[in-house]
Amino acid sequence: MKKFTDPAILQKWCANQKKKGNKIALVPTMGYLHEGHLSLIREAKKRADIVVVSVFVNPVQFGPNEDYDKYPRDEKADWKKCREAGASAVFFPTKENMYLDRHSVYINEEDLSLGLCGARRPGHFRGVCTVVAKLFNLSHCDIAIFGQKDYQQAQVIKRMVRDLNFDLEIVVMPIVREKSGLAMSSRNTYLDEDMRKKALVLSEAVRTPKAGDKTAVISKKCIAKIEKAGLKIDYFECVDGATLVRSAKIKKGDAILVAAFAGKTRLIDNSIVK
Ligand code: AMP
Repeated sequence: MKKFTDPAILQKWCANQKKKGNKIALVPTMGYLHEGHLSLIREAKKRADIVVVSVFVNPVQFGPNEDYDKYPRDEKADWKKCREAGASAVFFPTKENMYLDRHSVYINEEDLSLGLCGARRPGHFRGVCTVVAKLFNLSHCDIAIFGQKDYQQAQVIKRMVRDLNFDLEIVVMPIVREKSGLAMSSRNTYLDEDMRKKALVLSEAVRTPKAGDKTAVISKKCIAKIEKAGLKIDYFECVDGATLVRSAKIKKGDAILVAAFAGKTRLIDNSIVK
């Protein structure tokens, strides 16, 4: 497995792989890898000859009062997990070589990123779109794999690919959960046992709304349940799965999305209405 830290060297290597006729899959991550990330790498391996995993805690997608500095990092463990999952190359750039002095070009998606996490985390999707576009260009990928765990992110990236004519395919993989039902997340490492138990209410809440339910009524119930469990709600929304516009009445294909604080840890989860 190859290790790259310099964007230019990665880009050259990937271009060379393309010349040889290899299909390249990219799996962008912020590291501290868990089974959710590994499911993406394994899927990438099934679909391409070369799998490039990026491990980069992207400063541009964090707000000033968010957890950029204390976001968990473990390069050694990530390296081992990538190798075991079958990656061909891992890209561990530094923020200095991803964002050169006077970096001044960013990508703004101006529809799907306005609500939900975009409304609570100003600048978040600007950071996500910018770094993902850079990773697409660096990896020459034919396909990029994302998780449904970040539902809004996946929709925003798909829109960016469509609107900016990136010549690649986006694949979105299901949420991998702990046995308990808790959606796997690098941030779960912040939770103590008590909080982990309390946080289970999120996966229960996103599965509660059913087709035909009135959004206002069911949302109120779910929010009350989450707060009663001891979490602080950030948002609970029932939206059309494609447009992310709030549904008055829940229908098949809608996305039920939640963000809530378990202590200081912000957790997200979602499910699609059957
Ligand atoms: P992150 O490292 O949290 O930025 O996530 C990198 C990629 O892994 C994103 O596409 C996430 O949606 C995906 N991912 C994170 N957690 C999970 C999970 N529990 N199941 C599936 N994919 C996930």
